[in-house]
Amino acid sequence: MSYRRSATSSITIKDQTGVQPVDTDFTQQVKDAGNFPLDRCYQCFTCTLGCPVAKYMDIKPDQIVRMVQLGLKQQVLTSEAIWICCACETCVTRCPNEIDVPKLMDTLKETAIREKITGKNKIIPKFHKDFLYPIKIFGKQYELGLIVYQVLKTLDFGDLGLGIKMILRNKLSFLPGRVKGLAQIKRIYEKTKQD
Ligand code: SF4
Ligand code: SF4
Repeated sequence: MSYRRSATSSITIKDQTGVQPVDTDFTQQVKDAGNFPLDRCYQCFTCTLGCPVAKYMDIKPDQIVRMVQLGLKQQVLTSEAIWICCACETCVTRCPNEIDVPKLMDTLKETAIREKITGKNKIIPKFHKDFLYPIKIFGKQYELGLIVYQVLKTLDFGDLGLGIKMILRNKLSFLPGRVKGLAQIKRIYEKTKQD
């Protein structure tokens, strides 16, 4: 996939009022959270070029790094990009400065949740929570249950045909499986205070 930086994808420093709050504490907090060497980023654009989902992001990965450097907290934490990153790690393997962008995206997601900052995309954060729930109960994912729950919640039946094909090919179990170490998994949830 190729991606070219367009005029419309450039970083906007000023908002409609002409003043964009810059929060240097935010920059430092993010850097400290993951020991990120963000100052090394020289905007080579390699991370965005290789990112398989960059075309769906409102702010591209290289821009996220730059905006964190600039302390543009609100713009970064309300972006869709931090939720669209699928942690494939293509960018971090190619970054000449070893900047761990997926870990940075996770840090930004955690910050947004902790500070109760809601972004443009409300569906993906909720899906993350729904995705973790079966693991808390069964110790592993219960795909069919998750799919049925999502379909009923969103009333989006677009992938119904695909779901039926998967069931017919035994790719989806009707009943949830369980794992031996369920107690340990529940302890992880308790320690991380996940509901
Ligand atoms: S690849 Fe690394 S150095 Fe280049 S823009 Fe992305 S984060 Fe910055
Ligand atoms: S880890 Fe995230 S930002 Fe990096 S290439 Fe993959 S999807 Fe894109």
